[in-house]
Order: sequence, then structure tokens, then C-alpha cells
Amino acid sequence: MLVHKFGGTSVKDAERISGVARLAVENRRPCVVVTSAMAGVTDSLIELARAAEAQDEAQVAGLLGALRDRHQLAAEALFADSTPEPRLTTQIDELLDELGKLIKGVALLRHLPRRSLDLILSFGERLSCELLAAAVEQSGAPSRACDARDFIRTDDHFGKANVDIQTSRELTRAALLDLSRDSIPVVTGFIGRTAQGLSTTLGRGGSDYTASLLGAFLDADRIWIWTDVDGVMTADPRVVPEAEVLPSISYREAAEMSYFGSKVLHPSTMIPAVQAKIPIRLRNSFRPELEGTLITDSRTDQFEGVKTVTSISDIAMVTVEGKGMIGVPGVVGRVFATTARESINVYMISQASSEQNISLLVHKRDGARAKTALDREFELELERDRIERVDLNEEVGILAIIGEGMKGTPGISQKLFTALGRSHINVLAIAQGSSELNVSVVVDRHDLHRAVGAVHTRFGLTSATHVFVLGKGLIGRTLLRQLVQSKARLRRHGTWLNVIGVCGRTELLFNEFGIDDQTLRRIADGESLLELGGEQRPDYREILKRVLQTRRLDVALVDVTAAETGELQLGAMRHGIHVVTANKKTLSGPLELYRSLRQTAREKGVGLYYETTFGAGLPVLFTLQDLLETHDTIQRITGCFSGTLGYICSGLQTGRRFSEVVREAKSLGYTEPDPRDDLCGMDVARKALIIAREMGQPLEMEQVALEGMVPDELLALPDVESFLARLDELDEPYAEKVRQAADQGRVLRYLAQITPEGVSVGLQAVELSSPEGQLSGPDNILVYQTDRYTGENPLVIRGPGAGAEVTAAGVFGDLLKVARHA
Ligand code: ADP
Ligand code: ASP
Ligand code: MG
Repeated sequence: MLVHKFGGTSVKDAERISGVARLAVENRRPCVVVTSAMAGVTDSLIELARAAEAQDEAQVAGLLGALRDRHQLAAEALFADSTPEPRLTTQIDELLDELGKLIKGVALLRHLPRRSLDLILSFGERLSCELLAAAVEQSGAPSRACDARDFIRTDDHFGKANVDIQTSRELTRAALLDLSRDSIPVVTGFIGRTAQGLSTTLGRGGSDYTASLLGAFLDADRIWIWTDVDGVMTADPRVVPEAEVLPSISYREAAEMSYFGSKVLHPSTMIPAVQAKIPIRLRNSFRPELEGTLITDSRTDQFEGVKTVTSISDIAMVTVEGKGMIGVPGVVGRVFATTARESINVYMISQASSEQNISLLVHKRDGARAKTALDREFELELERDRIERVDLNEEVGILAIIGEGMKGTPGISQKLFTALGRSHINVLAIAQGSSELNVSVVVDRHDLHRAVGAVHTRFGLTSATHVFVLGKGLIGRTLLRQLVQSKARLRRHGTWLNVIGVCGRTELLFNEFGIDDQTLRRIADGESLLELGGEQRPDYREILKRVLQTRRLDVALVDVTAAETGELQLGAMRHGIHVVTANKKTLSGPLELYRSLRQTAREKGVGLYYETTFGAGLPVLFTLQDLLETHDTIQRITGCFSGTLGYICSGLQTGRRFSEVVREAKSLGYTEPDPRDDLCGMDVARKALIIAREMGQPLEMEQVALEGMVPDELLALPDVESFLARLDELDEPYAEKVRQAADQGRVLRYLAQITPEGVSVGLQAVELSSPEGQLSGPDNILVYQTDRYTGENPLVIRGPGAGAEVTAAGVFGDLLKVARHA
């Protein structure tokens, strides 16, 4: 017997409902299906009931209408292709009419007792159950909608009722065993009924528990809990996007996780399954091809240390403080007696060893009540100053690290506190479970998510590099697309690149937890950041401040702008942020800046990668650094570093007019908007200067001997149009140069030369048979003459030196170096 449980997200609309119905039909039989209410419906029902109690007629009407629409639409969509199912429509209508009457009753009485709320909540699962049973039938297996209240017997603890195991077992077997032989029963999760016939619920998320109970009652050999994540993960993926799926965990770990806030499984789920030794598998109904996580009673892995980090955010801390407590017997006992009397659930206690205070961690909604009760309990002691005060802090959260392997592994707590300390997170209280299965700490609620991220990284559960992309031009957008496309593959190799910010010229989109793939794709498609929830771009200093506030470790700033970003890059590195840059402006700026950038990277031990400042993705700088590090001596580097000018030179070589080739290059988008930006040779000079500096030459731009391809007079013209109008003047002089070169068996190339004596950049006639002479079209070429690679056999690198795809890929490559460096 197999028990499936489908969570709210797995039955959220008609499409999902038919999807999971097929899952049930196609898998092993016999099986029983347990379903949650459609996602969000339980919350809507609570809201509806409260609105009725408050006699807010408009809200009641709105919510009821929305619930009706949602279920009726799903029913219609389910049967869109076949004969409509009139029975289903009627049933849904009837259920909703009944709900409407109840709601009217609440509104009339202006009273919402817990027992009425439970009855109201039962409608969520009863409605989804009808839909799913119909969908299973439609998928080809006989099915029946079963109301669990007929066989799950509970006490009258409304809101979180306790199940009468014995009676429920008998009733369940009678109701489902025979039925499951030739059909697939679909059962409402979450709800039960008292012996007196009152409807109850088993606590939020209680459908998991129903599934586990049915598994035990029906002697199932497996329980599959289908949800919207790939399995139990090393942290809540909504908080830590780089969290990873755990292939297996023990019941004890799972129980501890759900206790400490991980919503992925209901806390009680484990008990019936543990007793009956039924393995539970958590699976993603959106990706049924995955195995998910196996939860069993044995520790199947040898995992040392911490497995997951969980958190609960809505917590209040009530502290009883006072010197007079020392040695006074019974204070602790009285504290607990008080909370027990008030039915307040205590998540955790922490007592300072000096006995000067005791802290209780309770749900936020119980905080004030706990304080009032304790004030009353210790009235006398407070008056006599034995107890100084009962303090209430409603702004805290609990973080817990969990793992069976923590037992006996030394240094775990130290590691935890180092991680929190390094992220400047203040620890308000600490507790270690006696099981040694968890250590939990209380922190300010506002620090909680950051704390989870830092601890997750510190325990090596995954290493993430958080990426801030400066510039959303063609290269920036292409990079984002490449990042999204490679995500899954990188992840399999243990690398996680999490984009936390994208910044254009005027806008910024920032999310310290990571921008989702969907949004990144839309940015890549050119959508405005403002429309995606972004803001006007603040100045660089503010941007840096924002990035630093995340207190993330391993952040990389990716500069794909052509702006003056020297100060920003320096500031980032000084704070431990790695820099990946394709921006030539900084490294070819003042020598002083180049030196500080390199020096800061060295001193701070951060990565500074700039391979793409030269020839896009070509491994030019890497090769150079490699030669230098292995003590080769560079005699000379020559080459053609500009695809645009290369294209123009090739054109001239075939006898075409200069003006014609330039205009064509412009119309093909090979030139900058103003072609003079290419023709002046500055871009080539910048690249040559970076190479010379890498070789150790302390050069400034003014020292580069630079000759452009157009005379200064034309460069000085105020606008592009007037320049283009006078382009023809150059046709004859260029034709003459081409002829002269050809007479000597040479061709024109725009050449850069870097030797120990200096750097020169300009047009030259080179031998047709030389590597540069052989070059055609927009490719780049670099010829290294070194002690090792001399004479006829230089080291040559050739390939496309521009283009968004190759440049972005080069930046991506640098980012991976950061990820591995980190
Ligand atoms: P369902 O509707 O299927 O019952 P829930 O919303 O109750 O789904 O539980 C699944 C959610 O639990 C996930 O979407 C995820 O955000 C959250 N979650 C919290 N902690 C973890 C964890 N450690 N592993 C996986 N999911 C987690
Ligand atoms: N529908 C209930 C809830 O939202 C039970 C469940 O989904 O497990 O809490
Ligand atoms: Mg759930």
C-alpha cells in the first residue's frame, strides 16, 4: 500500500490537479491519496471567518465569491475537453452554500468560537477532495472522495486536536481497505471529528499528519509527501536560495526540523510512521522524475556535523530577571506551571548559569499573554524586588542547526558563533537540546534571515557567490541570460552564483536574497528594472553601502560598464568584495589607479579579474600572466586588437573605398555609434596599455605613441553627421596607401606593438604572410615573441575579440574563478 499526500501547491489549480491525479493513477496500487486544500484556501477561510465575526459584509462577500470562483473555475477547466461533470459542479455549489450559511451564523452572532472555525476550515479540504477525486476518475481510475471526519476520531482540542489512534485505526481500515482494492480513495487531510460529531482540525499543515496516520493504519509500506520543493533541504530555499536537497534524513532530524520552524513537514507526521517503521519520501510534484528525500528511522548516511539550518521568525522572548532568584527554589517550576496553565507552547528555554534570568521563547501571539501571566504569578516577588522585572521582546527569532552527526563532533558551537560574529549578529540566548541533535540561538528578528545564510555557508552546506552586476547593456544582459541557463549545471558541480543586484545607468534592482530566474530573464530581455520592482539608481557610495549591509561573505561585483568606476571598485575590494571587470576605463586610467587596484586586491586577498578588458573571451591576459610567472621573458607583443579596425583594413585590402567600408561597418553595428571612437585608435591604445602594465611597464596613456586612422581635423568635428559627410576625403589617400603596400607584398593593419621600450599603436604595412597579414575580418590576433617562443614560432592567440556572447562568456569565466577562489 502506498499513501500519497498532495500539498496545497500541488492542487492549486486545475492543471496541477490533473497533473497529480495522473501521478496517483500511474504509480503503484493499491494506493490512497490524501489532499490539502488548494494553496491559500485555509488562509482565506480564516480571513473569511474573522471578517464575518467583525460583520464586514463587503469582505465576506468578496472572499466567498473568490472561493466559489476558484473552485468552480477549476471544476470547469478539469472537464473542458470532455463532457462536463454536472455532479461535481453541484457538489461544489452545495458545499459552498453550506459554508455561506455557517458564515452568516457567525456574522449574526458576532462570535467565532474555535469549534466553529474548525468546521469552517474543513471546507477547504472537502472542496479540493471532490475536485481531485473527479480528476482521478478522469485519468482513468475509479475513485471516491472520502471525508476523513468519518474515520479520524479526535478529542475536542479544536485547532490542534489529538487523534484517538485505536478507534481511528479501526474506522479507517473499515472505510478504506476494501475501497482501495479496486479504486483510488481520495481523502481530506487536516480534519477529523470528535465522538460527539464535532469537526476538528489537526493543526496547520496537518494533512501531512493525516497521510502518516493512514499509512500506519493501512499498513502501508511507503508514504510519499508531494510538495513544491525538490525535497528536504539544507535550509528553507526561500531564505537561502543556494540550499541543497538532502538525499536522506532520519525521523529524528525531520522531527527536530519541523519543530524548529521548517514548514516542509508537519511536526507530528513522524510519530505514526516511526512506530510503524514506514519510510516517508518527500517529493516535488512539479518534478516527479526526482527522487526527493527519504526519511527513515536509520541513519543511512555518514554525514558529520550539521545537516540543516532552520528558523522561526514569529517569536517573542519573555525573560524573568532578578538577583533574588538565586537559590530560590521553584522559580523555574512556577514559570512552567504558569505557561502550562495558560496553554502557551514554549519553544525553547534558556537559563543563564548565574541563575539571574530565565528566558522563554514563545509564539509572538502568546508573548503578551505570557508576560501578563508571569507578572501576576510573581506579583509578590516583583513587589519585594526579588524579581526585577518580566521583560518582553516581541522582535526575535530562533535559528537552529540540526543533525544527528553533531553528537560528539567537537567545535560545532564555536563554528556557529564565529559565523554569527563575523556577520555582526548579536546572540540574545542560546540552548542546546539534550539530544545533541540541535543547537538553537535567539537573535533579533531582523537579523534572522541573514543569520541563516551566514551559518549555512559557514557549515559548508553550500558555498555561494553573490553577484552584483553593474551595467545592463548588451553584455550585462547576455551575462544574466548565460547565468540563468547554466545554473542547474553549475549547481551540480557545487557552484552557486546568486545574483543579488543589477544596476543600469538610472535604475537599480536589489534583493539580498537573490533575484529569481524569471526576473533575471526579463531583465535580459530588456525590461526596465523599475517595472520589475526596482528603484531609481542611487550613487555608487550608496550602492556599495547596500551591498555591504547584506553582510554576505563572498560577494562579487561585476563591472560591465564603460563608466568611471575606479573608486567603486577600490571601495568594494577594500571591504572584501571580489571584482570582475570588463571595463577598460579603470585599468587603463591613471597608473596610480591601476596600481591601487592591483595592490588592494593583493592586500585584501580578494579576486580582481579582468580578462575581458582585453579581446573579450580570448585568454590573452591569462596567457601573459602565465608566461611571466613561469619566468619567460617577453620581447615583444604585437597584434591587431580591434575587430572594427580589422574589418575596415580587410575591406580596404579588397580594393573598396574607405568611406564605403566605414559606412558599412557602422550599419552592421561593428562600430561605436560614432565611428571615430574606433578610428581614433584609443580603444586599441587602452588594451595595449593594460598589457604593457601587466608586463611591469609604469606607463601613462600619454606615453603611448598613438596614431589614429583619421586626421585630427576630422576628429575635431562636432558631430557624427558632419564627420560622415567628409569621409570621402580620405578615400584617395587610403587607396594610395593600399597600392604602395601591395607593391611590396604587404597589407595594411592597425597594429599595436608592446616592447620593453614602450607602446605604439597605428596603421602599418605588414607582410601578407605574417600572422597579422593573414588575419581577416573582425578577429583579434596577438603574437607573443618571448625567449621560449621566438623567431618563426611565436605564440599566437587568435579569435573573435568582440561580441556580446563571447565577452559575457569571458566575464562568466572570471566569475567562476571568483567562486573557486572564495
Ligand atoms: P505543501 O503545501 O506542499 O504542504 P508547504 O508550504 O507546507 O507545502 O511546505 C513546503 C515549503 O516548506 C517549501 O516551499 C519551503 O519554502 C518550505 N521549507 C522550509 N524549510 C525547508 C527545508 N529545509 N527544505 C525544504 N523546504 C523547506
Ligand atoms: N490546509 C491546511 C493548512 O493550510 C493543512 C495542510 O495544508 O496541510 O494548514
Ligand atoms: Mg505543508
